[in-house]
Amino acid sequence: MKIGITGCAGRMGRMLMAEATGRDGVELAGGVERPGHDAVGRDLGLLAGGEPIGVKVTSDPQALFELAAAVIDFTTPENTVANAEIAAATGRPLIIGTTGLEAEHMAAIDRAAAKTVIVQAANMALGVNLLLGLVRRVSKVLDTDYDIEIVEMHHRHKVDAPSGTALALGRAAAAGRGVEFEDVAMRGRDGLTGARRPGDIGFASLRGGDVAGDHTVIFAGPGERIELTHRAADRSIFARGAVSAALWCAGRPPGRYSMTDVLGLD
Ligand code: NAD
Repeated sequence: MKIGITGCAGRMGRMLMAEATGRDGVELAGGVERPGHDAVGRDLGLLAGGEPIGVKVTSDPQALFELAAAVIDFTTPENTVANAEIAAATGRPLIIGTTGLEAEHMAAIDRAAAKTVIVQAANMALGVNLLLGLVRRVSKVLDTDYDIEIVEMHHRHKVDAPSGTALALGRAAAAGRGVEFEDVAMRGRDGLTGARRPGDIGFASLRGGDVAGDHTVIFAGPGERIELTHRAADRSIFARGAVSAALWCAGRPPGRYSMTDVLGLD
């Protein structure tokens, strides 16, 4: 399968190229960067830290979608929406790893998913997708005597907070409790906040160094505390999941899918 990577010079872009190059049955169709980026015109193989492959980085996403059997996008919400529109027009599957997506971006992605296959997940790692299921189950069993707090840490360059994965874990906890996430999410505390509201799901975001992504969901109850943690040792776990998702798309009907579908975790 020929896979295209958009945002190919980014932290995840390079990881995705290395993963796609090393995976059986996968070939790199091309890579796209934003116009004016230093990487445009460079050989993709060299950019990924390997041998030259004779394919150069462009800033033409339309041409990439026409060449590739599926495109992987870990970039920015605005660019992801633009790519979802091209995916819909060309009928090519799109794998979206970009986080920080707001309701209007999600709506645009849903419109595209009526016409093509879209896999979207705030975290493509197998372990995190298992954790989502565990959090949902534990939240269903424990009542609001157990306060749910979600702590995440990421590298110093991350631009959105709480992380998309932390929010997904919060949504899993809310679903387990049978409540609306937006009604209980406490996304930050500062100053005289008053006592904790029963049933709230709290978030705390730490930023520093080169941490690939740590998430802990804490259930703090009377006299005991349960903590469920996932730690990403490096970004290759996300790239592996994204390339598996691209392979999984072949022959699927249009629709919006998640990593739970790809990994068969339901
Ligand atoms: P990064 O800033 O290193 O890379 C983003 C790349 O996108 C940059 O190279 C940038 O130039 C490029 N880009 C921006 N606009 C573009 C455009 N119009 N056309 C083409 N390329 C464009 O960031 P990163 O650490 O690689 O993370 C990217 C996104 O992926 C973030 O939203 C991050 O939270 C998310 N992420 C998701 C997962 C997951 O498993 N779903 C894992 C890690 C990171």
